[in-house]
Amino acid sequence: MKRLVILGGGESGVGTALLGKEKGFDVFVSDKGKIKEKYKDVLIHNEIAWEELQHTEAKILNADVVMKSPGIPDKVPLVKQLVEKGVPVISEIEFAAQFTTATLVGITGSNGKTTTATLAYYILKQELDVGLAGNIGDSFAKQVLEDDFKNYVLEISSFQLDGVVDFKPHIAVITNITPDHLDRYNYNFEEYIASKFRIAMNQTKEDYLIYDADDPVLVDWLDKHPVKSQLLPFSLDKTIENGAYLDQDNIKITIDNNQIIMSARDLALEGKHNVKNAMAASTVAHLLKIRKQTIRESLENFQGVEHRLEQVLKINKVQYINDSKATNVNATYYALESVSAPTVWIVGGVDKGNNYEALFPFVNTKVKAIICLGVNNEKLLQNFSNMVDVIVETQFMSEAVKVAYKIAEAGDNVLLSPACASFDLFESYEDRGRQFKEAVRNL
Ligand code: ADP
Repeated sequence: MKRLVILGGGESGVGTALLGKEKGFDVFVSDKGKIKEKYKDVLIHNEIAWEELQHTEAKILNADVVMKSPGIPDKVPLVKQLVEKGVPVISEIEFAAQFTTATLVGITGSNGKTTTATLAYYILKQELDVGLAGNIGDSFAKQVLEDDFKNYVLEISSFQLDGVVDFKPHIAVITNITPDHLDRYNYNFEEYIASKFRIAMNQTKEDYLIYDADDPVLVDWLDKHPVKSQLLPFSLDKTIENGAYLDQDNIKITIDNNQIIMSARDLALEGKHNVKNAMAASTVAHLLKIRKQTIRESLENFQGVEHRLEQVLKINKVQYINDSKATNVNATYYALESVSAPTVWIVGGVDKGNNYEALFPFVNTKVKAIICLGVNNEKLLQNFSNMVDVIVETQFMSEAVKVAYKIAEAGDNVLLSPACASFDLFESYEDRGRQFKEAVRNL
């Protein structure tokens, strides 16, 4: 019996444990932190061995294969030891993919993964047997075990991709690549880019890679490191013969001379970045032979994902927008670009080494007031104090929203788009977004 050791007892770890047990592995789950009750119950109920608050080396170094949760960096000594011993350390995506013959759509990128994956799933679901997994919802491993869908849309982070060996999506999407998570990549942007491109590394000429042709990082890398798969770029600026582009207000997607045209104005989602996400998701759907009318209708109906430029409420003709998921500058760039009216901007949190320069033009022209919401707002004050008339510091969401309410006038927006991580004042970006919505509803 082969021994499967799982490091990390979260959604992907417990899903892998269940699948591994079913496939005849001797499974052991080890978590250095505490395992959530709901996952412990599953492990106990299924008679899977586990430990928490420690890693017992004797029970780990004897593994035949190790599945490491994406949250654990490669640098930790235990992982290094395993690698030195020659034990394969893989990710959940790699493990689970061995046990399904489904068509896999893998979606990665720095921003837009969840939106694009959810939208692609939404369209495919109208006509196909499909599951949505990866960083979203139930783990891929658990769905392979319990649902056995014929198709999967997988949202895949670079950390998951670091642990793939044979994983080969039939359709890969890279939405864009901007600096993020560099702390995990020795502060080397190239390493991070290389990690994202692992999504295409096992693809052959029967497979497809969909990517943003307006992103110089992507285009440059592909120039220097060609892939075997067929390229289907999308662009807002250039005409694309095979792939998707914007012609006036029409999205045109062509694959093997078969073209689908739809109006970008009919998209329920707002913002240029969402036109890109819609192009990527529709190209996936077109490849998988979804009817044109179905694609069009889905794009008209899809309302977006919580915490991503989510329209919360209009109060006294002021629109409140929750973009709590904007945890880096690039995401906030698109938020500020998409708003038209004068905007009161709530920003701040844990700065991951931000360079705010790209935002200056928008702040100068669209932002009337800045409300800093973080433990340390020094960098925001330095960058933006001379650009707006009003800049204030707050430490609570309720306070930030009340101040915004006082400043905003009819026709304005109040936009929470923090460009920073949330961990100084909140549990997560979801917590931050929920607190924002609650504060708005309490106004
Ligand atoms: P991810 O899953 O990659 O974090 P999300 O879809 O959750 O991406 O979006 C994260 C943030 O980035 C949100 O603030 C969203 O409005 C913004 N965003 C979405 N799509 C794009 C894109 N194509 N380019 C840049 N920013 C985007």
